[in-house]
Amino acid sequence: MSPEKHIIEIQTGSKKIKVGDGSFTVIAGPCSIESYNQFFSTAKAVIKNGATLLRGGVWKLRTSSKSFQGLGNEALDIVQKVTKELDTGITIEVTDPRQIEELYPMVSMFQVGSRNMHNYALLKELAKQDKPVLLKRGFAALVSEWINAADYVNQEGNPKVILCERGIRTFETSTRNTLDLNSAIYAKKNTPHPVIIDPSHGVGVSHLVPDLALAATALGIDGLIMEVHPNPKEALSDGMQALTFENFEHLMTKTTKVLSALDRSLQRT
Ligand code: PEP
Ligand code: MN
Repeated sequence: MSPEKHIIEIQTGSKKIKVGDGSFTVIAGPCSIESYNQFFSTAKAVIKNGATLLRGGVWKLRTSSKSFQGLGNEALDIVQKVTKELDTGITIEVTDPRQIEELYPMVSMFQVGSRNMHNYALLKELAKQDKPVLLKRGFAALVSEWINAADYVNQEGNPKVILCERGIRTFETSTRNTLDLNSAIYAKKNTPHPVIIDPSHGVGVSHLVPDLALAATALGIDGLIMEVHPNPKEALSDGMQALTFENFEHLMTKTTKVLSALDRSLQRT
């Protein structure tokens, strides 16, 4: 089955990128925005090495209520400054429908996190928006449930959904999650949506992220989303899986080589 494929246009600063048109998009940034310097330095480093869209958490859905919950409004001020200074865009996770209005002017794309894939009230509100939605797969969701969640956004009026495989919970505990490449390529071949892969959450340990990122690239999907931090040991969330600037640069060199073996190349703005 080869359904008609959606091509999603994303405004990133004054430029536009397309996902699903055969180009390869890299989205990168910290798990959480922690300070102006942390976010600005990370943004500069990832853009220099080929990222065309930033990521960064503002409100964090943490398993423990005692863990860092994100800087909230303070992070939004940082986002506004940094995206303006670097003329770029960002995807931010929306954790509650009440945040949509405030986030709208700041984001190039809304991100729905794994823990919210089944939040139909949130999906219905995002269906009323004209900006793209990056829909992460629930860590215990069937592919059919993930596709149904995308339909909530599409059928109620927003055709712009990008699916993101971010690892699932299996019986295996040696890594944080199990990156489900099967389902990613299944979704790419059997749905109209572009598919990107998140190897950072997918494996959860930084020294394995580059290998999974390259495997994901070789799979033939539309891009990657990855966590990068100036000093992963000091990160307030997900430091275990964050790449350093140097790791990221090295990985992007290899990613370019894998893409070129497949007659593809990194997206440019
Ligand atoms: C994140 O992107 O930082 C995040 C929380 O991801 P997920 O929703 O996939 O756990
Ligand atoms: Mn994270």
